[in-house]
Amino acid sequence: MNLQDFWNETLSQLKSQMDEGEFSFVFSSLQYESSSGSTMTLSVPSAFFRDQLKGKYLVVLEDKLLELTGQKIEFAFTLRKPEIPTRAAPVEEKSEPKGEPPRLPKAPRKAHSQLNPDYTLQNYIVGKNNEFAYSCAVSISKDPGNAYNPFFLYGGVGLGKTHLIQALGNAIHHNNDKLVVTYLPAESFVNEFLSSLQNKTQSAFKNKYRNVDVLLIDDIHDLQNKKDTQEELFNTFNALYEAKKQLVFTSDRPPQELKAFAERLLSRLTRGIIADLQLPTWETRLVILRTKMVSKGIHLSDAVLELVAKNVSTNIRDLEAAMNKISAYGELLKREITIDVAQEQLKSVFAGPSQQNIAIDLVQRVVAEAHNLSVQDLKGKKRTQAITLPRQIAMFLIRELTEYSTTEVGMEFGGRDHTTVMHAVQKIEDKVKTEPNFEIKIQNLIRTVRDRAGS
Ligand code: ADP
Ligand code: MG
Repeated sequence: MNLQDFWNETLSQLKSQMDEGEFSFVFSSLQYESSSGSTMTLSVPSAFFRDQLKGKYLVVLEDKLLELTGQKIEFAFTLRKPEIPTRAAPVEEKSEPKGEPPRLPKAPRKAHSQLNPDYTLQNYIVGKNNEFAYSCAVSISKDPGNAYNPFFLYGGVGLGKTHLIQALGNAIHHNNDKLVVTYLPAESFVNEFLSSLQNKTQSAFKNKYRNVDVLLIDDIHDLQNKKDTQEELFNTFNALYEAKKQLVFTSDRPPQELKAFAERLLSRLTRGIIADLQLPTWETRLVILRTKMVSKGIHLSDAVLELVAKNVSTNIRDLEAAMNKISAYGELLKREITIDVAQEQLKSVFAGPSQQNIAIDLVQRVVAEAHNLSVQDLKGKKRTQAITLPRQIAMFLIRELTEYSTTEVGMEFGGRDHTTVMHAVQKIEDKVKTEPNFEIKIQNLIRTVRDRAGS
């Protein structure tokens, strides 16, 4: 029996059951090596790590594997060799005749400790939904500090912000031997800042962040309401910006929706280039799935991938999770995943509250009927008042009730641009806020759509 599949499944299940930090602390250092009979060999970085693991986590692993394989699995441990330093050691240098350039090819720069090496610009799939953001990142990677500074990237959860900001960091780190790249989630910036206040190490904190060449801060929306940290970031920003150092920020919402944010900080963050990430169309989602499948060594038929790409329309994280789920199922049971099996396995995912099965045309029908119009009127070119408002209402409701991106919604309204959809949404939002009767009308429409979708 090859235990590797069971090991992978063990990890994926434990990951969802354990605290994220604890999980990655323990299991990122533990590697599957081989198996023979019911013994599994794992490698560890040190004897200390192994003993710690035995004390606390071995039972957890044993139980999980017993549950999955139906038998008791024994463990053997081997120690991994420490990483070989990539820079030439001084000893080697001495043996080189003086004055001669080293003959070894230039060693690649060591992986960046804060950046996930799997996040690269090369494996970032580009579609209409993210091409602008992607090209900003590529330009910056070639000329950090000069191309676009600062770079403000926003988009909903699971749409690829962390991947892109880290890929940018990786590219700069590997292209420039000397540049110091620092990446951190905004939350860590808050925590570090607060503990520097507590421990009276403010100047060390300041030095740390004001002496970098590239500062990448992920999820900046987490700074909302954090007045003191905002102030500190403001000062850090000014110091770095003046020194022409590259700054990049991500946010889960557009700048104008960042509430409880100091105006002057916000105006700094957004004085450079701003780009957003939208949900990819299902065709692009399919390309993403294919790419991930190859890199993970998974095999699923095109028909199955297409089913997943079409039905998971929340974000890319959910898309990947759905693919992993069915492939793990197939591997465990050594069964080929047919469309039927995939459908059965993903039933709960497809029907989940965030994957509402509300179709665009249902919303269009409901809105058209309520205004004595036809769906064709809504999709058409006419721009009379009697049609424009209902059209905007329909766009708003689709964004409200489904996960379709503004680009996709635009397509369903006679190929309109996504900015038209954004404008419509904004307009209806404003109207709802200022006109109580209009709000009631919108609520009624929402109820009608939901009722019809359910029946
Ligand atoms: P966010 O930070 O916006 O919540 P992530 O960057 O964590 O989202 O992305 C979620 C998952 O989707 C990651 O595994 C990431 O690699 C993948 N992903 C997102 N966008 C792309 C893309 N354009 N190409 C390939 N993978 C992507
Ligand atoms: Mg993220």
